[in-house]
Amino acid sequence: MIKLDRRAFIGGSATALGTLAFGAPTVLGQGKPRVVVIGGGAGGATAAKYIAKDASGIEVTLVEPAKQFITCFHSNLVLGGYKKMDAITHTYDRLASAYGIKLNHQAAVSIDRDRKQVKLADGSVLDYDRLVVSPGIDLKYDSVPGWGLAHEETMPHGWKAGRQTEVLKARLDAVPDGGVIVMIAPPNPYRCPPGPYERVSMMAHTLKAAGKSKAKIIILDPKDAFSKQGVFQEGWEKHYPGMVEWINAKIYDGIKSVDPKTNTVVTGFESYTNAALVNVIPAQMAGAIARDAGLANDSGFCPIDPASMKSAKDANIYVVGDACIPGDMPKSAFSANSQAKVAALMVRGELAKTPTFPARYTNTCWSLIETDDTIKVGGRYEAKDGKITAVETFVSKPGETAQVRKETSTENIGWYSGITADMFS
Ligand SMILES: Cc1cc2nc3c(=O)[nH]c(=O)nc-3n(C[C@H](O)[C@H](O)[C@H](O)COP(=O)(O)OP(=O)(O)OC[C@H]3O[C@@H](n4cnc5c(N)ncnc54)[C@H](O)[C@@H]3O)c2cc1C
Repeated sequence: MIKLDRRAFIGGSATALGTLAFGAPTVLGQGKPRVVVIGGGAGGATAAKYIAKDASGIEVTLVEPAKQFITCFHSNLVLGGYKKMDAITHTYDRLASAYGIKLNHQAAVSIDRDRKQVKLADGSVLDYDRLVVSPGIDLKYDSVPGWGLAHEETMPHGWKAGRQTEVLKARLDAVPDGGVIVMIAPPNPYRCPPGPYERVSMMAHTLKAAGKSKAKIIILDPKDAFSKQGVFQEGWEKHYPGMVEWINAKIYDGIKSVDPKTNTVVTGFESYTNAALVNVIPAQMAGAIARDAGLANDSGFCPIDPASMKSAKDANIYVVGDACIPGDMPKSAFSANSQAKVAALMVRGELAKTPTFPARYTNTCWSLIETDDTIKVGGRYEAKDGKITAVETFVSKPGETAQVRKETSTENIGWYSGITADMFS
């Protein structure tokens, strides 16, 4: 199995790409070529930095409304009490000071693909030679009957980090012993396939640590199976016996309705009334800016050329991260970061005429089940058969020793430091 720490994460990503020391580029033509990046998350921040670094001669503008980025990754650890919010909060300052990236803290409201312009919330317009689009996901507020945007506080999703993480944490801490949490899990494809199940583990950890082991977490899952299922279920049995019940749609026969006023969830099989907490994680789609620009297909996500991350719909645009259709790769921060480096390599190849190399992608998703008990899944990927295809995969096995799980926990912590340093400093 691949082992990783902070240094290995950054170095390993570089090796996988073949080059990140792009060398001094020759910028052709009059003036600097302009790249606009929409979204300052795992995909966008990485793309902006790797396009601008080493004095590439390319003018990079990062468009992101928030002045601080709060990572969804490791937000489950906040629920578990392992991290505080400030430990998952990052600023963009270094991207400006160290790489000369122009930060524009407002939302992009539209893309004019013919004119190669991005319109911003204040009405101003940015011209681009190449555009990188990484807006992450939008939630489908109409995918759970009875639930919507107005109910985010009463039945929180916690699928975008920040206020939602805090609401979910406060609600979790208030669950009484014997209380019932109902999680409505999302259908595929969605951000972070193991995320709901790591969250369940962190909820159970918090309840158990507070002496509330009679509380119960019921997962209503539209999927027949989920990521790392065997090792998650083994872990729940070991650490939280009787506290977690996973029920799939064949049994509960679909969510018929939810009532945020009474915290009720009605399924075709059973109703859960007066739940102490209902965590609704709805269906998802690419961020609106990508869909509105016609970059998505009927799936709601954006097709790309697997060899370059270039949009299948527009040769001047790259789409990375959760908004794209990543073939065999999961929607994860690790994947977004890896895809962004490929896009950066190709953008520099086009605009600064630096050499390019065949796209290589990597991903690992770690999940904390209980202190010192972390599992992982991941792989290496290449452009093959018209998509990003897994060429090697690995997953934690049931019955692994405590030592292996502890080492995997250390990797997870190291990875977080590594990727956030890679994105923001
Ligand atoms: C609970 C949870 C746990 C997770 N754990 C992990 C994990 O352990 N490991 C892992 O690898 N991944 C994990 N993930 C997944 C990870 O957070 C996402 O896959 C990753 O953040 C995707 O990167 P992105 O750039 O596509 O989107 P984001 O990181 O969400 O960034 C998108 C950015 O675009 C901005 N934006 C949107 N629209 C516009 C617009 N119109 N104009 C300007 N800016 C815009 C947003 O403000 C946002 O900052 C987890 C997710 C969740 C929900």
